[in-house]
Amino acid sequence: MVMEHVTSLECTLCGETYAPDQIIYTCPNHEGVAGILEVQYDYDLINDRFDEPLDGVIESQWKYRAFLPINDDAPAVTLNEGGTDLFVTPNLSDELGVDIRIKDDGRNPTGVLKDRATSVSVTKAAYLGQDVITCASTGNAAASLAGYAARAGLPCRIFVPDAAPEEKLAQPLVYGADVLAVDGSYDEAYDLSMDVTEAFGWYNRNAAVNPFQVEGKRTVGLELAEQTKGDVPDWLVFSMGDGCTIYGGWKGFREFYDLGFVDETPKMLGVQATGASAIHDTFHSHDDIDDVAKTVADSISVGRPRNTVKACKALEESDGTSLLVTDEEILAAEKTLGTTEGIYAEPAGATPIAGVRKALDQGIIEPDETVLAVVTGYGLKDTKSAMKASGEPQYIGPDLEAVDTLYGDTGSS
Ligand SMILES: *Cc1c(COP(=O)(O)O)cnc(C)c1O
Ligand SMILES: [Zn+2]
Repeated sequence: MVMEHVTSLECTLCGETYAPDQIIYTCPNHEGVAGILEVQYDYDLINDRFDEPLDGVIESQWKYRAFLPINDDAPAVTLNEGGTDLFVTPNLSDELGVDIRIKDDGRNPTGVLKDRATSVSVTKAAYLGQDVITCASTGNAAASLAGYAARAGLPCRIFVPDAAPEEKLAQPLVYGADVLAVDGSYDEAYDLSMDVTEAFGWYNRNAAVNPFQVEGKRTVGLELAEQTKGDVPDWLVFSMGDGCTIYGGWKGFREFYDLGFVDETPKMLGVQATGASAIHDTFHSHDDIDDVAKTVADSISVGRPRNTVKACKALEESDGTSLLVTDEEILAAEKTLGTTEGIYAEPAGATPIAGVRKALDQGIIEPDETVLAVVTGYGLKDTKSAMKASGEPQYIGPDLEAVDTLYGDTGSS
């Protein structure tokens, strides 16, 4: 059965179009660079089919099934991703000196926003009858893919850099995937996964090259538009690794704007680490772009981002910008988020908060503007970094005296 609402796959570099029902990753017209494809839709048809109330009640991202590039008769492979809470965060607002809200996407089934995209690509892979599904990942995409592959009953083989946090290696192993820890960087693991896809024909979920992958991430933008209807923030802040997440968020929000469901769009602020700054450097036309990545925020430790084109498009079209934060600022932000609001983020998930602080310092965000930051990953994904951010517990003897020494006679101070 065809996908009537998907009209074509269009190359972001040369504009050539391809049929949406074939398995194709990138436009073959370009040597050396990846011609990333973009999924194009028939929005009249989507609008006809989409009849959900925009009342802020979102059980899962499948509320927006009409927008997803899957066949009408494809059974969804789902663990109930999306529908994450949007929190008003007054303590954090006081701390930062700006009105900020947080959407906590670390609460997705495997602890990461990527579950939105994985659900869509595994739904597709299962529908197409693929035998093996694969990806390369800094850690979270692998864990996410492994979880959804288990759900679908599909074998899963993933490539991760051997330096990924232990938690991110353990999780896909529990989900039953073959975890291939590559002696090299994420960028090398990625290249290997592409060679393998070509050699063995496994279905590749890699963000950016799988044109359908980023489309699942649009649901975070659709949800945000629905959740902020009437009170759209001036700024919407994401961290950037390959650049797919910020683009998905922007594309979704803009679709709801184009359909007339919301009156405004936010400016996008993309935040990278100083040690992995390629999208920022491209956006600001810096000439020498360092493609070796090193940052505590492993999920955005990407030297050669695969979706710079789309990420820059999100920043440009929304009249937004990008900036860089240091590892110290990222860890401080992880602690601030936990302490002020009880929201536990991994470093890449807290990176937007560090970015907001810096954007206020630099006058990019004005104190009277409103901000919404998306936390993309859960804190328990990387306990070592959390310990670096928070310090050690106080080790005490098992007696009252020890507590008395700390807090005095009443124990209440
Ligand atoms: C993957 C990831 C990102 C970055 O997403 P990109 O699409 O690579 O830009 C940010 N935060 C977390 C927690 C992630 O897992
Ligand atoms: Zn092309």
